Amino acid sequence: MESPSQSQETFEFRCERCGSLLRVTPETIVAICNYCGHPAALHGTVSLDRIFMVPSKSREVILEAFNRRLEKDADMRRIRHQVQVFNIEGLYYPFWTAEVSMRGHAIYIRYEHRGSGKKARLERRRYEEDFNLSLPMGIMARRQALTFGLSDLLDYYRASSPQENRLLDIGEEDWRRGAHLNLLAPEFDEVEATNRLAEDAVDAVREEYKRKGQELEFFSAQIERVSKVKLILLPLWRVTYAFRGSLFQIIHAGWDGKPIVATEPILMFRRLLYVLGSLLACFIGGFGAILLERGYTEFGLIIFGLSVVMGFGLGRRLTADIRIEGRRRIWA
Ligand SMILES: [Zn+2]
Repeated sequence: MESPSQSQETFEFRCERCGSLLRVTPETIVAICNYCGHPAALHGTVSLDRIFMVPSKSREVILEAFNRRLEKDADMRRIRHQVQVFNIEGLYYPFWTAEVSMRGHAIYIRYEHRGSGKKARLERRRYEEDFNLSLPMGIMARRQALTFGLSDLLDYYRASSPQENRLLDIGEEDWRRGAHLNLLAPEFDEVEATNRLAEDAVDAVREEYKRKGQELEFFSAQIERVSKVKLILLPLWRVTYAFRGSLFQIIHAGWDGKPIVATEPILMFRRLLYVLGSLLACFIGGFGAILLERGYTEFGLIIFGLSVVMGFGLGRRLTADIRIEGRRRIWA
């Protein structure tokens, strides 16, 4: 054996079913053959019979869905002739999902208004609750930072519950007939996934109790069990398009082509609309102030209050839209 190839051979695996070379990195825990779909467990705990896959539509179907949205969406229709598709890429992402059951106890404080008029007062109330919950949880099975659109993909998967096939049941022929998308290999195993999903579930419930009151006095939760653990491969398509020299992205769900989230150009007329709205709010506010001065107290206060709410809302949209560069969740 010559030395140069030795280090490479360490990570060279061949598919048990078709003999193709498997693409493997040191982090890969399951290698899934790109040519026939057969999985091979490399290390860690993974039950091969609990790996599922959602079939993907073809590139043509995704492009159709993209074009349909250009025609239908009010904002996009205005600019559709200046939009040029730059790249369409489909990829399978692995997710661990499970149902996490827990029991626990929480004590939280709320300050509530009691009575009215001169008797109105703020009352501190203490709430004590036992909970017994079962939460559907999911996490991407890779160590990279969360890519744009992945959490939306997972949410949409839950909402639309598409048809899914057990990987071991997909024959070689069926695999070759399907859309040829590259697969990203999962990088952590069932044991780690179970722990992480349980932690995430406890965090989610704690956050929920924090929202319920102004103070969280006590919180404890015990995991009863983590069930229905599975590894699911979800197809995601990323359409990149150019508009006036900038690139934008729309994420489509692979199983039905639905556009789920997008970064979009903030169009000038929309910005203008917000600015005009804010100016109008100032004007109404001024009108309210005049009414107040002339003794129309109640009416003046209502008008003034309205202008504050309006101005605040519009101002926030104006700055929020610019800051997130027009990230827009499309499905609802
Ligand atoms: Zn194979």
